[in-house]
Amino acid sequence: MANVADTKLYDILGVPPGASDNELKKAYRKLAKEYHPDKNPNAGDKFKEISFAYEVLSNPEKRELYDRYGEQGLREGSGGSGGMDDIFSHIFGGGLFSFMGNQSRSRNGRRRGEDMMHPLKVSLEDLYNGKTTKLQLSKNVLCSSCNGQGGKSGAVQKCSACRGRGVRIMIRQLAPGMVQQMQSVCSDCNGEGEVINEKDRCKKCEGKKVIKEVKILEVHVDKGMKHGQRITFTGEADQAPGVQPGDIVLLLQEKENEVFQREGNDLHMTHKIGLVEALCGFQFTFKHLDGRQIVVKYPPGKVIEPGCVRVVRGEGMPQYRNPFEKGDLYIKFDVQFPENNWISPEKLSELEDLLPSRPEVPTVIGDTEEVDLQEFDNTRGSGGGQRREAYNDSSDEESAHHGPGVQCAHQ
Ligand SMILES: [Zn+2]
Ligand SMILES: [Zn+2]
Repeated sequence: MANVADTKLYDILGVPPGASDNELKKAYRKLAKEYHPDKNPNAGDKFKEISFAYEVLSNPEKRELYDRYGEQGLREGSGGSGGMDDIFSHIFGGGLFSFMGNQSRSRNGRRRGEDMMHPLKVSLEDLYNGKTTKLQLSKNVLCSSCNGQGGKSGAVQKCSACRGRGVRIMIRQLAPGMVQQMQSVCSDCNGEGEVINEKDRCKKCEGKKVIKEVKILEVHVDKGMKHGQRITFTGEADQAPGVQPGDIVLLLQEKENEVFQREGNDLHMTHKIGLVEALCGFQFTFKHLDGRQIVVKYPPGKVIEPGCVRVVRGEGMPQYRNPFEKGDLYIKFDVQFPENNWISPEKLSELEDLLPSRPEVPTVIGDTEEVDLQEFDNTRGSGGGQRREAYNDSSDEESAHHGPGVQCAHQ
């Protein structure tokens, strides 16, 4: 037994790699007695390691895989069982080969197929009101004609060249104690792991074992669901022989709304008002996500400062699974000031008489210097010159939406 890829499991049982089945059994019994959790509660995972090592080495097929290909042979071999990955990383460490062991397994030990993830775009209206929608998708189902066998029973044979694994592994010794494993797709079976006798091949699925089927799913988008929330259809993903189908998972993608921005269960909107409304009260209406016309009144005498926020309680999004409870609606006011020279100087002094009086100008003693106050466009930066402008040009679209100056310019 000179050429064993890995001896760790033998080491755990304290036997040489060439040990006979009987020697293995003896070693296992002795250790299992010694390290059984009932007798030796402080031994930690030792008992698990012993059991795992014996489970592998007492099984001729697994033992052969392990002898020839070490840990990776086991991972790739068919002997997976629940919790195997845990004990793997415990014994072998998660490092070098950890990328091999990411095949998920179901509770009953059957390999579990991959989940199918689909984005589902939904409007804010849909998330407010709830919606039932139908989703059509095509998926693999087991061929009913051959029961997922690919042909008459016995027609499908495990590929002998790769022993059904679809890949062949070559081990090269680069230096003492340093091996390189190389994988290549098996050429005898094109990586299928199986060969089919041509005349017995199933006509319906052409030996593929599965056929495409169109499936319609009824999707319930509940009130108050959120961006990124998942709707799961258990076991509805692609079927494959010997594999427990994974789930179809719909990932909700909230579309942007023109009026409302959502933050948790709260809604935010911006409303433009004129100076007269800001000072003298106002009323406006807007259409809510369920189509209601909402009237917002603000009485004369109460003042809205530019950029300030007021809240309407209970007009936000419904809570998921508790839709009669709603978040709040925050309205930010964008106060539009009049243009330059909007009023004659005489009228302006009349206005000044009506407005709160200005503070008295303090008397300054000593030298003074009068300066010029100029228009300043916030979006163009402060004297940065050419470079700053060139930058703005290249990101025009962005700054149009999120530019820092857009809101301030009106204030
Ligand atoms: Zn078939
Ligand atoms: Zn093959």
